[in-house]
Amino acid sequence: MVNYKVEHDRPGCIGCGACAALAPEFWEMDADGKSDLKNCQKKEENNEIVLESLDIEEKDFEKHKEAASACPVNVIHIIEKETGKKII
Ligand code: SF4
Repeated sequence: MVNYKVEHDRPGCIGCGACAALAPEFWEMDADGKSDLKNCQKKEENNEIVLESLDIEEKDFEKHKEAASACPVNVIHIIEKETGKKII
């Protein structure tokens, strides 16, 4: 069951690598120095990815929360789908 949505405000990513180090099954570093959420939906504007998003299940919540908590510039967010509440 899909419970949450993870969003990556990619333009603000400073490429520290924390998310990819903590949750390599979900995050990877790209050649441009920023991270990517694997298998996500990408929203582009002017040939730049402005937002990555991925629906996740409860079982993957803690791992994504760990990555989001470690992001030094707070560009990873988790939203509860049913209520629209932003968890982080
Ligand atoms: S932890 Fe944040 S700043 Fe660091 S690579 Fe991941 S999204 Fe980018």
